Amino acid sequence: MEKVKYSVVVAAYNEEEVLPAFFDRVTSIFDTLKEPYEIIAVNDGSRDRTEDILRERCLADKRIKAVNLSRNFGQQAALLCGLKESRGDAVIVMDADLQDPPEVALMMIEKWKDGYDVVHARRKSRPGESFFKRSTAKMFYRFAHRISNPKVPENTGDFKLYSRRATDVLIALPETNRYLKAQSAWVGFKQTFVDFDRPAREAGETKYNLNKLVKLATDGLISNSTYPLTLSFKFGIIACFLSIAAFLTFIILAICGIALPLAAWLIPTAVLLFGVSWSLKGISDVYTAHIYEEVKNRPVYVIKDKFNDQL
Ligand code: UDP
Ligand code: MG
Repeated sequence: MEKVKYSVVVAAYNEEEVLPAFFDRVTSIFDTLKEPYEIIAVNDGSRDRTEDILRERCLADKRIKAVNLSRNFGQQAALLCGLKESRGDAVIVMDADLQDPPEVALMMIEKWKDGYDVVHARRKSRPGESFFKRSTAKMFYRFAHRISNPKVPENTGDFKLYSRRATDVLIALPETNRYLKAQSAWVGFKQTFVDFDRPAREAGETKYNLNKLVKLATDGLISNSTYPLTLSFKFGIIACFLSIAAFLTFIILAICGIALPLAAWLIPTAVLLFGVSWSLKGISDVYTAHIYEEVKNRPVYVIKDKFNDQL
């Protein structure tokens, strides 16, 4: 098999309107590199002519490879399949709708040649997307960034370049719940950014309905974080402290001769009961967080390289 230097990986779900333009743009830009490349297109259970278009393109151009999934598994699953099929020294993941301009991939390749293993394309602007989508995405990224460890880079999507070794680490991750944005940060090695203006979709409609967006967002929030699971314990402890402070205040007031009606004592009593039950629940949540980390079963470390290994 001929050695390929670059692999372009794309997931496509009902993208008949945009795929021909996608292949034309990507091939014309990657041809300028004058180095062997492949395009791996994963058809994520499309119900339109996506599969036919892929068949035609594969017949016409041997550098294009297509995989048809048995049903719609979601973009993240389709991308993992594409990464597994890829053979290039550098792998560039992009969307089919040309919102990830192939020209930007050339800048990413320059960074890879400078020795970076993961290059994130960062969106400077997102014209053509609704105010709702832009502002919710912004809030989401900020929050996800705060609670994650390692940090999920802000304003980035799946448009990234991975070196071969970064790709191999990603593929080998055992967890089934895939969220590449977080996992790419987790991989480590040298990472950097290229900034670009994100254009509007070239044709067709977004393939992310509200359900899929919510699933993606929750996966994103928890992929590198167990913070949400620690909240009940924190709330519980805070409630316990507040109620004890209220009790002490009431007692001091009573000593000073200011007697509060009996009903007033019910409030800190209720808060205390709430606090005790939430902190007890929180303890089991802390165990759940640990179980979650164990079940993800990620490697405990990734080796970059070794010195004097062969001596
Ligand atoms: N996609 C996919 N499976 C899905 C949903 C989306 O493979 O279930 C692909 C889609 O074809 C596109 C990419 O994921 O190549 C990003 O989707 P889209 O452009 O609709 O998302 P948006 O840019 O609106 O967030
Ligand atoms: Mg898009």
